[in-house]
Amino acid sequence: MSTTKTITVAHGDGIGPEIMEATLKILDAANANLDYESIEIGEKVYRKGIKSGIEDQNWDIISKNNVLLKAPITTPQGGGVKSLNVTLRKTLGLFANVRPCRAYHPFVKTKHPDMDVVVIRENEEDTYGGIEHRQTYEVYQCLKLITLPGTERIVRYAFEYAKSNGRRKITCFTKDNIMKLTDGLFHDVFKTVAQEYPDIESENLIIDIGTARLADTPEKFDVVVMPNLYGDIVSDITAQISGSVGMVGSANIGTKTAMFEAIHGSAPDIAGQNIANPSALIQAAVMMLRHIGRFSQADNIHNAWLRTLEDGVHTPDIYSAESKKKVTTQEFTQAVIDRL
Ligand code: NAD
Repeated sequence: MSTTKTITVAHGDGIGPEIMEATLKILDAANANLDYESIEIGEKVYRKGIKSGIEDQNWDIISKNNVLLKAPITTPQGGGVKSLNVTLRKTLGLFANVRPCRAYHPFVKTKHPDMDVVVIRENEEDTYGGIEHRQTYEVYQCLKLITLPGTERIVRYAFEYAKSNGRRKITCFTKDNIMKLTDGLFHDVFKTVAQEYPDIESENLIIDIGTARLADTPEKFDVVVMPNLYGDIVSDITAQISGSVGMVGSANIGTKTAMFEAIHGSAPDIAGQNIANPSALIQAAVMMLRHIGRFSQADNIHNAWLRTLEDGVHTPDIYSAESKKKVTTQEFTQAVIDRL
């Protein structure tokens, strides 16, 4: 039996508390042997006038436990408030964002039954530095930062991920026909690092036609790697065409700390209604268990979750003619637990 591991848990905003409660119940039922140290971040903290959305002492808790399971949070728009998601990724040095998007055909409706794409997004650089200026009354500027060490690290991570997960091909998306220095660097580093992995096929596509092809025939892609902003957009598209944004989890990996979350937001439009799909956070928790070496519990939860989908027990966002039963968040959770 493994020793108890303490992880930090942030219950989030909107549907966050509902899908976190679901996920923790499943982790406990699967004997994941975890202790939870909860922290409050997001809306409630913003309301106290703390513009970062996180109180200082909580950084120590996150660093001490090294693993953070985080529900989505609402980012206040405008008003000089920074995105806490971006702050977390940058402060904790979470350089790689991994988002596996696969179809669960025929149980979850998709036009792309054979797709199985892992989007790997650089997570700290690009336009996410928040370096924006007003130059004149009419002109605003946002700086795009792409560095050699940052690019090398994410590209190498993508190749290592492919190698250790039996993946055969990596596609790099850039716009280096226009941004010749920044995206040009990303493409050059990709070409150089690819030479070290002769067994993995590699290609670079200009992001516009690359995304068009990905949306049209995602089954032809395997792992895709790209700078931060492109990855943010492309991973939502890829998740949605695989079935639903409510199904995809993500791992934010750093050298010391890792954070696991759903790719979707706090969905305020359905909050408090007990209809949110907890699958994305459950997937994130499965990735977390693998990260800390709890492989059997991860497989157990993943298989129970798959059986729930296969049995047609579906939340409203994925409910279709093929489904058998439309269920609430809590009923879906119980259905997964019953299949552990
Ligand atoms: P969203 O992802 O919250 O919602 C988009 C649509 O998808 C909505 O119709 C919502 O009901 C639906 N949806 C999302 N997750 C679902 C689920 N689990 N089950 C069923 N339906 C689901 O995107 P948004 O509305 O643009 O953003 C809402 C807030 O979330 C914003 O404040 C945004 O900044 C924030 N956000 C946070 C994160 C994060 O914490 N990592 C990520 C993205 C957005």
